[in-house]
Amino acid sequence: MASFKPTLFVVSGPSGAGKGTLVERVRSLYPGLGLTVSATTRSPRPGEVDGKSYYFLSPEEFSRRIEAGEFVEWAEVHGHRYGTLVSEVSSLLAQGSSLVLEIDVQGALQVREKFPEAVLIFIAPPSLDELRARLVGRGTETPESIELRLANAEHELSLAPRYDEIIVNDDLDDATQALLRTFEKYERN
Ligand code: 5GP
Repeated sequence: MASFKPTLFVVSGPSGAGKGTLVERVRSLYPGLGLTVSATTRSPRPGEVDGKSYYFLSPEEFSRRIEAGEFVEWAEVHGHRYGTLVSEVSSLLAQGSSLVLEIDVQGALQVREKFPEAVLIFIAPPSLDELRARLVGRGTETPESIELRLANAEHELSLAPRYDEIIVNDDLDDATQALLRTFEKYERN
């Protein structure tokens, strides 16, 4: 019988590459995979719930928590701060669950420093043109935010070779299967 070990997965990729949708789909197929709730200083979008989508913190509260050493990693992304709380990771690891952090590339590289055994998975868009089309179609971003996210995407893509696995999200079903197989592969090693 295959043995399973709790694994810390990190999923990153440019905004609009579809990592949120992919992680959500894979979690419904792969029960037992915990997802941490990040903290952020950005404002909630319509429909986002504090404590579920993110912990929405004021800049002062975020700074206080950095000082208190409450973050595993944090980074400034698209003009706001985002971070993973130690409490989120330790409670899931204590339960013996594998978990997935859906965070940006700067955060992912910090996690690799602290947890060298973490598995880093990069979700890439098929192209930058397709990424722009998706960000426009999503309708959640202002034109300035779209330009900022696209500029950041080029930098993020340049860091993809530092990840353990790269999945191109061209077709959602194919990419979901590829992510599922990746989780299974590392948990069984
Ligand atoms: P959004 O504002 O679209 O929800 O997220 C913007 C970016 O912040 C995404 O690339 C997302 O992966 C990243 N992000 C979300 N949570 C965290 C976190 O806890 N740490 C870091 N470093 N990045 C995060």
